[in-house]
Amino acid sequence: MTFATLGLIEPLLRSLETLGYQTPTPVQAQAIPAVLAGRDLMAAAQTGTGKTAGFALPLLQLLAMEGPKVTANSVRALILVPTRELAEQVHEAVRQYAENLPLRTYAVYGGVSINPQMMKLRSGVDLLVATPGRLLDLFRQNALKFNQLQTLVLDEADRMLDLGFSEELANIYRALPKKRQTLLFSATFSDDIRLLAGQMLNDPLTIEVSPRNVAANTVKQWIVTVDKKRKPELFVHLMRKGKWKQVLVFAKTRNGVDALVDKLQGLGINADGIHGDKPQATRQRALDRFKASEVQILVATDVAARGLDIEDLPLVVNFDLPIVAEDYIHRIGRTGRAGSTGEAISLVCADEVNLLSAIEMLTRQTLKRQNEPDFEPEHRVPDTDASGQVVKKPKKPKKPKASGGGGGKRNLGRWVDSGEVAPAEPSIKPVRKVPVFNTGPRKRKP
Ligand code: AMP
Repeated sequence: MTFATLGLIEPLLRSLETLGYQTPTPVQAQAIPAVLAGRDLMAAAQTGTGKTAGFALPLLQLLAMEGPKVTANSVRALILVPTRELAEQVHEAVRQYAENLPLRTYAVYGGVSINPQMMKLRSGVDLLVATPGRLLDLFRQNALKFNQLQTLVLDEADRMLDLGFSEELANIYRALPKKRQTLLFSATFSDDIRLLAGQMLNDPLTIEVSPRNVAANTVKQWIVTVDKKRKPELFVHLMRKGKWKQVLVFAKTRNGVDALVDKLQGLGINADGIHGDKPQATRQRALDRFKASEVQILVATDVAARGLDIEDLPLVVNFDLPIVAEDYIHRIGRTGRAGSTGEAISLVCADEVNLLSAIEMLTRQTLKRQNEPDFEPEHRVPDTDASGQVVKKPKKPKKPKASGGGGGKRNLGRWVDSGEVAPAEPSIKPVRKVPVFNTGPRKRKP
């Protein structure tokens, strides 16, 4: 199969040739003809599957071939994304695909001045990539009109809900023309996403290119158990032992990112960090330097790293496990992309056993443990498996207190036979986010 057989026009085929794309990926093979035929789409596709081209190519073709010329402050196609980084990345891809087409494209997001964005929108744009908050600001200030809108794309819809954008999405939804094409892409398909899809999509075609909620199988995944306080030391040890060249590291909090970066820099290691407290320009610079291999270790929070597309990233390290199990899939999706293989290592301490269990349940696998000599934890991480069970170590036998006759309290304790194993705890539910479309925002900063 080729891009030409999918029905793409010559100017797009020329761009793809320049980019070196030869064969459509599975999501592209399914999405491109459906979008060209005007269908709504509900696609379960992880980042790394080529989903951006899957929606952007047919969208650009429809914009070039159909519909009126864009008027002042109008937009004909809108791609909503959860983060600024993803907005930049998607727009860069769109720009490359649209190289040979007479279309105006642009990206708007928060964290930077709104005035240049308002100026740029004056003459109208054919395709706009936007984060929900900034889009609404622009709309409320009359810098944007939706009367010409023909297509809406929700990219990484699960993450938009996760970040508490449900109210913004509802407000945007109310402002859009009822007659339009809508495409929804999500790495994971929770019930909340299905609810959102039910409200926004019209008789959608469902595409599922990877099994539901299963982590990319091109990524070799394993964990090392360790005591919490020894994680930085273990990280440096593994880094030196494995001669790691370029690593994307995930930490749970902004403070965690800063602490690890300080520690690494203190050891003369070339490291930088990105999180939501840093200005957009600083984040972008750190990312660009990492991509150019000028920075060896990039430490990030989940939100800041969302949507990063770094070619051939060999290794992702989870310095902390994510609070939301689905984020594990997003994180490891940074490696093993577009057919290459990758590795994802998680440093797990005893406190994180329930998070580990939730990840194993979600991805339906028991992560292999590969412990490091000299780093075996004092606080043992109980065994877990994909069934969601956390198996505690056998309890030590307790000696019954001698009941010394007379007035003392009677010992009601039970003798535990040395062969008895404490029962497994009841199934642990995966840590779930509970965003519901049309409910109030639960915004958290990355
Ligand atoms: P995405 O899943 O959209 O983030 O894309 C992942 C990466 O795959 C990006 O770097 C794309 O440039 C690349 N890519 C997308 N489609 C193709 C293709 N058909 N052939 C080769 N590379 C592709």
